[in-house]
Amino acid sequence: MYLDNSATTAVSEEVLNEMEPYFREAYGNPSTLYSVGREAKKGLDKARQRVADAINADPKEIIFTSGGSESDNLAIKGIALKLKGKGNHIITSEIEHPAVKETLHFLETLDFKVTYLPVYENGIVKVEDVKDAITPETILITIMHGNNEIGTLQPIAEIGKLARERKILFHTDAVQTFGKVKVDVEELNVDLLSLSSHKVHGPKGVGALYIKKGVRITPLIHGGGQERGIRSGTENVPGIVGFGKACEIANNNLEENYARLVKTRDEIIEKVLDAVPESYLNGDRNERLPNVINFRFSSIEGESLILLLDAKGYQASTGSACSSKTLEASPVLKALNLDDVDVHGSLRISLGSQTHFDDVDGLVEAIKESVATLRKMSPLWNSDEKYEEMMGQSK
Ligand SMILES: *Cc1c(COP(=O)(O)O)cnc(C)c1O
Repeated sequence: MYLDNSATTAVSEEVLNEMEPYFREAYGNPSTLYSVGREAKKGLDKARQRVADAINADPKEIIFTSGGSESDNLAIKGIALKLKGKGNHIITSEIEHPAVKETLHFLETLDFKVTYLPVYENGIVKVEDVKDAITPETILITIMHGNNEIGTLQPIAEIGKLARERKILFHTDAVQTFGKVKVDVEELNVDLLSLSSHKVHGPKGVGALYIKKGVRITPLIHGGGQERGIRSGTENVPGIVGFGKACEIANNNLEENYARLVKTRDEIIEKVLDAVPESYLNGDRNERLPNVINFRFSSIEGESLILLLDAKGYQASTGSACSSKTLEASPVLKALNLDDVDVHGSLRISLGSQTHFDDVDGLVEAIKESVATLRKMSPLWNSDEKYEEMMGQSK
């Protein structure tokens, strides 16, 4: 059972079918004038309309990119470079995706100043803190919509309203929320918004940046002037077509999926917290994505738990695909003010919009058994009393 949909998703059959003709027949360069090129251009236009419709934008406001990371880079560096004469201060949160965080670290080497706002125990930014951080030098606020590790949702519409009042540009990374909760650029009061195709059952290597009409940005990739000169390079037509289809499907099924995901999510949360002693939920209980759960189990290593669960047929993660090789504590969990030992025992379960998961009891049993096995070997969990208490509960 694949339970790591925040890392990536399977490409759906409908998306694959939509893409295929753009490899085989409509392979033309969309910038050319003859028919095979025009066919490709038509596919591109249709996809742009579909992406725009899905977030309540105008097609002219959609720039196709190579994915969520490029969209984040383009939004942040593009605005920083454009506005560097006006100010050098950027506001963000402590729990951004590396595509935002590392981009900001890079800008710090170019003399930009960055404020990293805390997220407290519940993993949510306070609008008051954003307000307090604004200076006359502030040119951009970038705060993610939904967190990829712990699933918490940020008060984007309120922050956007504040940014607008202060005439500061506002970017949000909506890679995790798009297709799971309503993402409407008007309601969210955003100027720039990042999307990625492979998190919503589209192909990898495609994404989009929404840039509100009138917002000027410096391009990062120069060349033939595709994508209104903002992102040169021959478009990845089949990928973009697939992304467009994936957006359409995600939006058509939004409400139905939401209800189904929340039900399964809540059942998993309740049953695991009930079955496993000293287990906790990371991030706010309610202000969270319908498909993301992040647990913390005391006295164990998340990586070992992942392997035991995999052997039992459940593929989940510790939370962040990007730091899973370094064994460093996750900065997102650290930002929740957890003890150092506690940040290591995390497990992220992320459900998919198109896969139905109803074997909750099997999963709960597998987690309970695996945690018990690891604690038996854990020097941190070495009191006999604790062990007996736990085994008593598992009868
Ligand atoms: C996956 C992800 C990204 C990166 O998207 P890619 O298309 O893989 O580059 C950016 N932000 C968030 C929140 C993500 O989950």
